[in-house]
Amino acid sequence: MTQAHASTPVSAVTGMLPEELESDFITIGEPKYRARQLLEWVYDKRVARYDEMTNLGKGLREKLQQWRALTTMECVTVQGSRDTTRKFLFRLYDGRYVETVLIPASPALYGSASDRRTVCVSSQVGCAYDCKFCASGLNGFTRNLGADEIVEQLLQVERQSGEKINNVVFMGMGEPLANLTNVLRAVQIINAEWGMHIGARHMTISTSGLAPQIKKLADQPLQIRLALSLHGATDEVREQIMPVNRKYPLDRLFESLHYYAERKKQMISFEFILIENVNDSLSQARALAGRAKEIGAKVNLIPYNTVEGLPWKRPDEHQQEAFLKVLQDAGVKATLRREKGHDIDAACGQLRLKQEAADAS
Ligand code: SAH
Repeated sequence: MTQAHASTPVSAVTGMLPEELESDFITIGEPKYRARQLLEWVYDKRVARYDEMTNLGKGLREKLQQWRALTTMECVTVQGSRDTTRKFLFRLYDGRYVETVLIPASPALYGSASDRRTVCVSSQVGCAYDCKFCASGLNGFTRNLGADEIVEQLLQVERQSGEKINNVVFMGMGEPLANLTNVLRAVQIINAEWGMHIGARHMTISTSGLAPQIKKLADQPLQIRLALSLHGATDEVREQIMPVNRKYPLDRLFESLHYYAERKKQMISFEFILIENVNDSLSQARALAGRAKEIGAKVNLIPYNTVEGLPWKRPDEHQQEAFLKVLQDAGVKATLRREKGHDIDAACGQLRLKQEAADAS
């Protein structure tokens, strides 16, 4: 039997592979085809309680209840409404919190016919990488999420919203590549036909730039997409705001990106948040264009969302557009997120910090 992470005794059903559940059933003296029945209830019929699994006898349901949890987390807050970005706050079995964001199709981004519904999942409680602009790491790192806790974010968002998710981005709290084993297990379950059945090409893992882990990801078979949180186009600028750059400076990082692009034959994307007087100069834009062309990457420019307690702010629109133009003139595929007033969209990690503060008071 697997343990999704050291601190929970046993993973919930949603972190398990069919063969592992089969050995569960054998252990409790039941035929192993029951495992498939259980998975159908969870992923096809989206049932959240053993009571509702009517083709499993009452005695068995009670046994299962004792044996393995169906869920280990509870949705405590939903912010936002239909047609807008919604943010879900979950309380985990140990009283910690993580956030998940549901982003409906944006006509501006995908064309009005798009039915893309994206969920942004968290992979850790807190974060150890200490990016200076980010709310997720403000209280440091607490623990990895188990595969079950990652999969459950999706199941619960679907259940709460009544919408079918078809795109997943690992851009919530935490550094997914620092929790690679559990993240890959979750990806496998999300991708599986017996699981959530979402294509690997509809999943994106975002990283602050863990070079060795990028190579490990390149070596596994699924065609997951990779996004790099670049945020600085030279070592000098990047290391001011992202301490991870001292460990893996740009040349080392790009060596691993080349490896990824080569192995996967895929276009990588760069996330670049624009922060006034930090990384928004036109010379940064030119350096960024060079880096993007080097790897054939596309660039997503994101005006910085202010974080309570942090000094940074976004440049004015004129500067944002000028920055974008440098990239476009250099022939780089680039987008600039122009929507305003996305309070709810504001940096991941903030809702959790507020909830923790409220719990403590
Ligand atoms: N640790 C991974 C996954 C988190 S992704 C990574 O760094 O890629 C979350 C994205 O939101 C990252 O690109 C991060 O840099 C960005 N981000 C963090 N704080 C932000 C803020 N205040 N405004 C806009 N984007 C922010």
